[in-house]
Amino acid sequence: MTSQANDRPLMGNGMQHQARKRFGQNFLHDQSIIDRIIYSINPQVGDHLVEIGPGQGAITNPLASVGARLDCIELDRDLTKYLKANFKPLDHVTIHQQDILKFEVAQLNTDDHSLRVIGNLPYNISTPVLFHLIKSHNLIRDMTFMLQLEVVQRMSASVGDKNYGRLGIMLQYYCEVEHLFNVPATAFKPQPKVNSAIVRLTPHKQKPIIAQDIKMLELVVRSAFNQRRKTLRNSLKKLISDSGLTDLSVDLSLRPENLSLTEYVQISDALSSAGHNQQS
Ligand code: SAM
Repeated sequence: MTSQANDRPLMGNGMQHQARKRFGQNFLHDQSIIDRIIYSINPQVGDHLVEIGPGQGAITNPLASVGARLDCIELDRDLTKYLKANFKPLDHVTIHQQDILKFEVAQLNTDDHSLRVIGNLPYNISTPVLFHLIKSHNLIRDMTFMLQLEVVQRMSASVGDKNYGRLGIMLQYYCEVEHLFNVPATAFKPQPKVNSAIVRLTPHKQKPIIAQDIKMLELVVRSAFNQRRKTLRNSLKKLISDSGLTDLSVDLSLRPENLSLTEYVQISDALSSAGHNQQS
């Protein structure tokens, strides 16, 4: 997220903090948006909450007041120091000074489908954060994120939509994706140059469709969208000829945005089986 100005907001204990662009720091200050986010999450005392990038605590404070277990992961040392001091009296709140991209949520010793992950994410690392967390989809009940509007549109796009692509297909393989509401730049200090939106991802307890080989599915989807304007016959030419596959139930004269997740899985499974048959 790029910022226009470097405001120096005052934190709760009188400390001054200079927003750091390299950490994507744009702090939420619009109380009505904060309330709406908390209302969407509807946290309950028995939940296990995980907040990514608590910053100065705009969302952390209302989450902590629920009394549920809350683990926060913040990279900025100064903010971590402040948060640790601020939440010290609350035994159910733990602040981890770590990079979320190196933090394994499995270390939180939690049950399957239990973690409720929340974050106004640093936009410069939002896609890597999503792909990092999705690896632990079995442990996660839901994830509610603030992200750049354009990214949320890509995450939630349906087949045929101009925003439909790799990000949406791969996330929708693991999760239901819901674009909840938009947030204007004026809700932040400093204000970002982009509009934002709240998105909820709910990992499927039972996936609607399962690929034989997830790496093959990733490769097929990446190859297809690397050449968005070409038909699948052209963009998947090498993969198909390498596999020796002659018969495919999917119409390869289509462009990549016109194929559903199910059809991508069909192509991927056909390639996996052909490769397997070639080896055996
Ligand atoms: N949650 C706060 C709010 O809504 O006002 C701050 C949101 S700000 C957009 C993003 C936060 O993520 C910052 O506090 C930043 O320091 C933190 N952050 C940036 N990179 C991070 C990383 N790799 N791991 C954990 N936190 C990170």
